[in-house]
Amino acid sequence: MLLINPKFKESFWSFRWALDEVLDGKSAVNPPLGLATIAALTPKHWDVRIVDENVEPIPLDPDVDIVGICGMAIQFPRQRALIQHYKTVGRLVVAGGSYASLCPEVFEGLADVVVAGEAEYIWPRFCADYTNGHTDSLYHETGEVNLADSPVPRFDLLKLDRYTRVSLQFSRGCPYQCDFCDIIVMFGRRPRTKNPEQIGRELDELRAARVRNVFFVDDNFIGHRPRTKALLSYLADYQWKHDYRFQFGVQASVNLADDNVLLNLFGQANVSWVFIGIESPDAESLAEANKRQNLKGNLLSAVHKLYRNGIDVFGGFIIGFDNDTVEVFDKQYDFIVRSGIQIAMVGLLTALPKTPLYHRLDAEGRLVPYARADDNTQVTTNFVPKGMTAHEMSVGFVDLHRRLTRDRVIAERIINKTRFMKHRAASAHYRFLESLGILKRFVLHGVLAGGHTRIYHVARTLWHSNVQVWSVVIADWISGLALARYVETRLTTQPGCTPARTSIERLKQILARVIPDGDVAVDSNTWEVSISLARVVETRLFKELTQQLAALARSGTNLRIRLDERCTVHPDHLNDLLNRLSKYGDRITLSVHEVMWPFLRIDITKFHLALYGNYDRP
Ligand code: SF4
Repeated sequence: MLLINPKFKESFWSFRWALDEVLDGKSAVNPPLGLATIAALTPKHWDVRIVDENVEPIPLDPDVDIVGICGMAIQFPRQRALIQHYKTVGRLVVAGGSYASLCPEVFEGLADVVVAGEAEYIWPRFCADYTNGHTDSLYHETGEVNLADSPVPRFDLLKLDRYTRVSLQFSRGCPYQCDFCDIIVMFGRRPRTKNPEQIGRELDELRAARVRNVFFVDDNFIGHRPRTKALLSYLADYQWKHDYRFQFGVQASVNLADDNVLLNLFGQANVSWVFIGIESPDAESLAEANKRQNLKGNLLSAVHKLYRNGIDVFGGFIIGFDNDTVEVFDKQYDFIVRSGIQIAMVGLLTALPKTPLYHRLDAEGRLVPYARADDNTQVTTNFVPKGMTAHEMSVGFVDLHRRLTRDRVIAERIINKTRFMKHRAASAHYRFLESLGILKRFVLHGVLAGGHTRIYHVARTLWHSNVQVWSVVIADWISGLALARYVETRLTTQPGCTPARTSIERLKQILARVIPDGDVAVDSNTWEVSISLARVVETRLFKELTQQLAALARSGTNLRIRLDERCTVHPDHLNDLLNRLSKYGDRITLSVHEVMWPFLRIDITKFHLALYGNYDRP
């Protein structure tokens, strides 16, 4: 059996610039924990492999009986393409993951089998049915799983060294009722937890794999406080015994800041950062969203208190509540700058299916038919806003990001954070030589590349900060610059970047000399430029072509490059071309015929890979 995690589209969450330019050898942020858990629930004698398309190429025609493909909502387009592909090549395809759990009906008729909901009881049933020669089309968990029954994930099947951190899960469910949230729709409002010894066994595995940086993926780590405290006491003891081996990060509600016992335990267990859904500085917007836990105290003071306890804060922010008018952009900007939050994930409110928000907007007739409800990283949303027009919303959203990612504003936020944060809860999680390498690449590719202005701003953030938190200053610069690069190159109100007319003309002229008409085309909706490299043979010409394609990709144009069985380009030239383009790989789709693969030596995970089925033939 092959289990696949489909490639994510590039977004704020990818931190692509940081992965490519600073954190050498890392290809993605989080490994697919769900697939490792599925593998652990599979009969021992089955031969199971996990391939994460974000860190390695997927085999297009694997020697397996079953292909299992997971996915969150944002992965759905790729998950769907993979399902179709593996069905075309005759495998039994099983779809699962959080989107299939929320909306199993979307997968009906698409995958052979759909596994919806928590897997601990239904996955073994599927495996038993498969062994007995008859599987159902849907395995749906409608009850709740006791997490004591959740096995230690098969971390050994993941390439852990390709990720910046490794995920663990302690609990499922959250007691709150934010109206846009699909977590409580899937996991319910009664938090269920693993016991501390289970987490200890998982950490033993990760220690053996030399992992240091661990992220608890629970949507609210403090949903059941007594059990969280018991876990943290256990972790404090574990860390002491193992020389404070791990640095932890969690997601929690903001009322964490009200509980001093909890904050102390965070320090003792080496929890160094927390992601908090702040959503809005506007009390009326929070009340509208039923985010009552954020209304009880002062949000800014809560963030500052966490800093004073040595805990870094990442924040989620939402724009588009009915109460929001165009003034919300300035309000969010002011709050984010004053709070010092660098990893500030600002997204447009999206009505996710089956949430109270979705039902309300549906009843009000405000849902936009055919708009994507599975991607909150876009510059548009799936409903008609109330306090501003959709256009004002998109333009204000992009502008807010542009303002937040200027060097001066990155610096201001760091200074506003380190005024409060004088020490860190956790020790550094990189080894000495690793840290040195990161520092060197940060200076070369980040600081110096930004010229005098950036050198000045980096210097002043260091000057204003305690030496003990310089690692936070540098980490914030790396995150800030990664977000800035994303905003600069990808965040636009246009559907795709309009390719420069002159570049297209030049490209056509070059190709016209050797390729018949029609092999270069521009899609007028997406502005994607498609070219086929079927018969480009001349070296001089190929170098010119490489330059033109790199210029187009650099300017933000989406490209589709087809390498089919007729291609007679020398493999060295192809590899040169693809290496050069890999920097812009997230906007390049490759269609590669299987006969070409043995000749390619490129990192295919940097590109989108078109699958060679009829539906996807360029
Ligand atoms: S606190 Fe977070 S996980 Fe809990 S209901 Fe609100 S958005 Fe969902």
